[in-house]
Amino acid sequence: MLVLVWKRADIRETSRLVTFLSAERGRFVALAKGAHRRTSSTLGKLDFLNRCEIGLSGRGFPLLSRVRLVHEPRALRSRARFLAAMHLAELFDRAILPDQGDRPLFDLALGAFALAERVEPRRLPVVVAAVELRILAALGSLPDLSQCTVCGAPLGTDEPAFAGAHEPGLACELHRESGSIRVAAAIHAWLPRLVATKGRELPSLATDEGFGAVLSICGRWVEAVFELRPRYRALALSSQDAAFPRRGASGAMPR
Ligand SMILES: [Zn+2]
Repeated sequence: MLVLVWKRADIRETSRLVTFLSAERGRFVALAKGAHRRTSSTLGKLDFLNRCEIGLSGRGFPLLSRVRLVHEPRALRSRARFLAAMHLAELFDRAILPDQGDRPLFDLALGAFALAERVEPRRLPVVVAAVELRILAALGSLPDLSQCTVCGAPLGTDEPAFAGAHEPGLACELHRESGSIRVAAAIHAWLPRLVATKGRELPSLATDEGFGAVLSICGRWVEAVFELRPRYRALALSSQDAAFPRRGASGAMPR
């Protein structure tokens, strides 16, 4: 079974509990016996976000019977990449439920961490926003962003739209809610594009300074759906080796 290594907890001297993500079992915990010994070949394979093939045994609580390292994400040792990965991990940790397989979300996680390793650092914010919107979509929390969520009217490319502050979605001027944010046409057009663009094409998606406002909207929606203030998001988006968004870009940082 292909897994992402998620968390480790030491129990007793010779064993660890390891949390994994997989398409088949969602987020689950297995016991790795003997993984503590310095000579253990398992130990080095069970690092955060390593991709592994594992075998499980045991009738009740799953025991880790074998581990083969498939990929070690060394590129995530850079600060900007690591922070982006940490932020997305916090969201996947909420989205992927214990012991409930969800292949689309698992595949999204695999793709997201692979992109965080490989995309040019200044493009990391594009990946963050696109993955955020896709997680919301996978959870059924993202309406069609090319039309008004109330009346279904297509949102034109020359009119502003209004972004919901309490839930994801865009509305026309007539159906704007109180507290919604006015979004210029050139900017709201980005949101459906981020959802529709194929993962491998995301790194080359052209952006401009208006993208700061897109990041701000995605941040609000993530907070609304997950009811949390992401711990790493602002850091990830302002990290030194991610040059974009430029300092002073309006609304780039949620706080
Ligand atoms: Zn409307």
